[in-house]
Amino acid sequence: YTTVGETLEQTVARYPDREAIVYPRKDHRFTYAEFDERVNRLANAFADRGIERGDRVATVLHNGSEFVLTVYACAKLGAVITPLNFRLAAGDIEFIVSDAAAELVVFEAATREAVTAARPELESVEEYVYIDGEGPSYAREFDALLASGDAERPSVDVSEDDTYAFIYTSGTTGRPKGVVHEHRDMVDHNLLCIAEMNVTRDDVGLSVMPLYHCAELHCSLFPRVQRGATTVILHEFDPAVALDAIEEYDVSFLFAAPTAWNGLSLTAADRDVDVSSLRLGLYGAAPMPEQVLENCREHLCEDYIQAYGMTEIGPAGVFQRPEDQLSKQGCAGLPALNHELRIVEPDADPDREVAQGKIGEILIAGPCTMREYWNRPDATARSLREADGTTWYYTGDLGYRDADGYLYVVDRKDDLIVSGGENIYPAEVEDVLFSHDGVEAAAVVGEPDEEWGERVVAYAVADGVTADDLDAFALESDQLADFKRPREYTFVEELPTNPSGKVQKFKLRRSDDAARD
Ligand code: AMP
Ligand code: MG
Repeated sequence: YTTVGETLEQTVARYPDREAIVYPRKDHRFTYAEFDERVNRLANAFADRGIERGDRVATVLHNGSEFVLTVYACAKLGAVITPLNFRLAAGDIEFIVSDAAAELVVFEAATREAVTAARPELESVEEYVYIDGEGPSYAREFDALLASGDAERPSVDVSEDDTYAFIYTSGTTGRPKGVVHEHRDMVDHNLLCIAEMNVTRDDVGLSVMPLYHCAELHCSLFPRVQRGATTVILHEFDPAVALDAIEEYDVSFLFAAPTAWNGLSLTAADRDVDVSSLRLGLYGAAPMPEQVLENCREHLCEDYIQAYGMTEIGPAGVFQRPEDQLSKQGCAGLPALNHELRIVEPDADPDREVAQGKIGEILIAGPCTMREYWNRPDATARSLREADGTTWYYTGDLGYRDADGYLYVVDRKDDLIVSGGENIYPAEVEDVLFSHDGVEAAAVVGEPDEEWGERVVAYAVADGVTADDLDAFALESDQLADFKRPREYTFVEELPTNPSGKVQKFKLRRSDDAARD
């Protein structure tokens, strides 16, 4: 078996001179041999600072070669990379770094203020490393540290069962949980991504989505490194900059969220740019609206593939193949290689499958599933359950399968509203409200009701619209059964969202019982 560090070393042995990483912002261009040497130097420098196998190293970084070097340096030491969202406030940094008991924190100019504010509370941290030149006096300079390290491969025996990362899920309820992944999870995940997306060593990928999130890191960058392909890294997402990079570097593959694809296709429509090198686009986190998909096909490339999954399973566990994009709208696809899918009564045992076409909780089993949530045995026991030798991950998502076995994702289980014994899926109600021109955003939740158990309540960001307008609109739409129509409307300035942009409904719901974890 292979570890994350060895996926890089094997590529170096095959293609030492192929280009590994291009990072235009700092004029970095590294072949695999050059990149690997820097990884070794950083790993040895970390070791010199006392970082050992099993120790946690946190990053609070935008995309850049420093982030990728840190990930592989930790992998070679058997240290546990803990990547934080660069948008987190000091309080969130405090929570995650302390929960992980990280010993080293790598940060940058953009996150300096938050890290500095959190620092007095970060009792576990012994070293701070700053990547943008001379930083605060308490931090070491990244480039100097890198130069100080020995170029030889660190002599640490890392096993495939060792922990590779703690990845904190932003969570739409309660505080973040550290998802514990082993090295072997990533090797399996790389192979399935390489196969499902036909990654070749001639691919040039563009990393524009945040690398701290495992969707970009594990579905995009890691498989390319194992295959020997090239990655061009952009510091952050900007449609015009991304399009220029596609042209300049002959980018063949790109992962982006549907909203980012929308921006790319609209920008490409009125810009003179050659994107003919693009062969495949990957999207995930949500289905792609039909119009966006059409725009993308017109202005970017023909083929798109959708991934459905979550941090806990790798993240990719279900793929919608390019040839199915148009025939099955809003569909998430079929299980990935080596994966199995089940739809069961929410929270019920894995053998309590619902009938085909019926909505239930989505369970996934595959080789890349996390070992556990760090320090959270109760949450782990709720999410991972064994049956007949198979470990099922309870996704907390509701969905159903069509007659061909294709998965459709409906809503989050925690958001399901039960009113008078009827199940109401907020997404369905939100879609109707959202189709009103005056509504910018809407979130629908269930609130306690003496008579009905729960009643449907809508929170909307809207201009010049009254509750009566929306009620009349919902009624006239003919798309909502009477029991699904909101009984109450509240207008808000904005909806509370977590750092990755998902609405935190537990913050809206009155009588909050969802903050349990
Ligand atoms: P994360 O762990 O941050 O990757 O978030 C995972 C959650 O995002 C899942 O539990 C789903 O609710 C949602 N999600 C991910 N991919 C898709 C998709 N293709 N379609 C719909 N929802 C998705
Ligand atoms: Mg595993």
